[in-house]
Amino acid sequence: MSTEHAELQVDLGAIVANWRALAALHPSGPVAGVIKADAYGLGAPQVAGALYDAGCRHFFVAYLQEALAVRDRVPGAMLAVLSGLIPGTEPAYAAHALTPVLGSLEEIARWTGPAILHVDTGMARLGLDPRDLAAVRLDRVTPRYVMTHLVSAEVPDDPMNQRQRQRFAAARALFPLVPASLANSSGIFLGQDFASDLARPGAALYGINPVPGRPNPMRPVVTLRARVLAVRNVPTGTSVGYNATWIARRPSRIATVAIGYADGYFRGLAGRASACFDGRPVPLVGRVSMDLTTFDVTDHPDVQTGRWLQVLGPQVTPDDLAAAAGTNGYEVLTSLGRRFHRTYLPA
Ligand SMILES: *Cc1c(COP(=O)(O)O)cnc(C)c1O
Repeated sequence: MSTEHAELQVDLGAIVANWRALAALHPSGPVAGVIKADAYGLGAPQVAGALYDAGCRHFFVAYLQEALAVRDRVPGAMLAVLSGLIPGTEPAYAAHALTPVLGSLEEIARWTGPAILHVDTGMARLGLDPRDLAAVRLDRVTPRYVMTHLVSAEVPDDPMNQRQRQRFAAARALFPLVPASLANSSGIFLGQDFASDLARPGAALYGINPVPGRPNPMRPVVTLRARVLAVRNVPTGTSVGYNATWIARRPSRIATVAIGYADGYFRGLAGRASACFDGRPVPLVGRVSMDLTTFDVTDHPDVQTGRWLQVLGPQVTPDDLAAAAGTNGYEVLTSLGRRFHRTYLPA
């Protein structure tokens, strides 16, 4: 008997299956695991360990601290830090055999050892300006890869994709012996022109649809279920929740469920989302509170106190919740709260 109020289950086997499926689509070179932001909120040590055991030998995180948190789970693997080399952190990179992703002449001048060169081809965030490439001196830096990042890979028709591919080809020509890394999740689905020596998917590993508007080719990875704390019968005309935004138009049964915006169940979902019970949708009614959300279970007599509603899973995917909340699946996953019980299905 679970005593938890909410349970997040992460299917490590599905993540590994997604990684293998991506690898099959990218025969030109290996497929890394992007595990920044705690593996998109799902648990970087667990995800890194599962991918490593499956044979993954290239990992990307955003920050040094994230790399340190997983280094011992991926011995000998390339563990690269995307967000640049903050002055003073060089000894930690060297001590833990981390690979910095260098995006400026200044960073290159400060580093000795293996690194990834990041060229900006359209994002204008991090990365070397292509006009600076001629000035790059690699006397002390051993470039493992030269990489760039696509800005619109999930929109295949966006002319930015071809523009970035051409700019990247020009940049690579300056480093003819250095392998290249290009595609993120959606980039892998752009076809051969976007194949490289190392793909860098994150989202698709975690079940987010890399081809929006088309059927999701990835396996679902997360289920999040929350406990029904109370069920009450309310007469017609009763208001539910903060600011009385929902009013019962019929005698109704209202289930109060142990999830709220403090858990990453966005306040903006009010009036737009459903949970799932026995495979059937259960509409959210009223405002989402910090710790509680109300659902109309009038048509679901089996919903009783102590039962569970599935708020995220194969029927209500991260992409579905994202669409309801006006965001993307990445933000849904990385917003998942820290206070529910987490379980991992082994790979
Ligand atoms: C986050 C990130 C990725 C992974 O992108 P997805 O869209 O999640 O596959 C790859 N490369 C860089 C530079 C990133 O910042």
